[in-house]
Amino acid sequence: MNWDYDLIIVGGGPGGLTAGIYAGRARLKSLLIERLIHGGQMMTTDLVENYPGFPDGVSGFELSDLMRRQAERFGLEFLSGEAVELRPGPPHTVVLEDRQFTAGAVIISSGAGYRRLGIPGEFEFTGKGVSYCATCDGALYRGHTIAVVGGGDTALTDTLFLTRFADQIHLIHRRDAFRGEKVLQERIFASEKVRIHWNTVVEEIQGNEVVEHVRLKNVRTGEPSTLEVTGIFIFVGITPHTGWLKSRVAMDEWGFIFTDEQMATDIPGIFAVGDARHKLLRQIATAVGDGAIAAFAAEHYLTGLSKGGGQ
Ligand code: NAP
Repeated sequence: MNWDYDLIIVGGGPGGLTAGIYAGRARLKSLLIERLIHGGQMMTTDLVENYPGFPDGVSGFELSDLMRRQAERFGLEFLSGEAVELRPGPPHTVVLEDRQFTAGAVIISSGAGYRRLGIPGEFEFTGKGVSYCATCDGALYRGHTIAVVGGGDTALTDTLFLTRFADQIHLIHRRDAFRGEKVLQERIFASEKVRIHWNTVVEEIQGNEVVEHVRLKNVRTGEPSTLEVTGIFIFVGITPHTGWLKSRVAMDEWGFIFTDEQMATDIPGIFAVGDARHKLLRQIATAVGDGAIAAFAAEHYLTGLSKGGGQ
């Protein structure tokens, strides 16, 4: 069977770059397509402290650059562009705005983005008190008073995690009931560190260099208030970047892609890694593991194809 590339990787975050390193070492002719800058969300992380091998932390920019150079060294080709469609084959066709490529196997690593509140101050103070990741930034708030926004499993789980560090947490939820699991709710209600603000929304995040306070409004009474906090964690859901797949691979109700342990989707030869996957923990470390497995599985799949088999 003929194709332009043995493997096309869509998305240049840590999962995609790791897949590229392994594919290069397996001598697969591979192309990585990235619409923005290589590194994905990692690129915008100021200091990555939980990725093994960097005891003093590493900037997301540097880690992205290191991974990219490593993949390049083993022959991965890079293309700047946006994949707008994936037509299952074999060979599979990855369609961009102005051209298209065929491949024996495809690894989807198009990632996800944190849902934003879209309020004044949110963008300006991101990385300066506004965070979307408790695992990444929680330890910075030891002894602080902080706010958390959201009422789902992530908000409740991460609020409980943040009680390890913060002295007081204002948990702000727009309704009068949490969406998250009951068992998590029980733990939240039992925590002396957590004060819940029901029926409340954040209208603005304010400060000078860093976050100093947030302006709130009670949506039932309209009553405004202000909280003095040094940090605000926003957990109002994440959105996978999988719309371009037009539901051609199996996904959960939020658009995260189902895979098996080999990162295979329901379509032979199409794999998915990183934050776009339906998975438990979305971290650089887990994306890297996904990428290594997917490239290995893709190589085996291609070997099977060349022998007239498949997966
Ligand atoms: P989620 O379940 O969609 O919850 C998002 C929360 O943010 C909801 O409480 C929602 O309020 C609130 N929200 C959304 N937009 C908002 C806005 N503009 N302003 C204020 N509040 C807003 O998201 P998630 O918590 O990230 O969870 C996503 C999925 O991962 C879920 O399936 C969840 O079960 C799963 N998950 C599981 C675990 C676990 O099992 N431990 C941990 C984390 C995540 P409303 O309730 O009013 O809609």
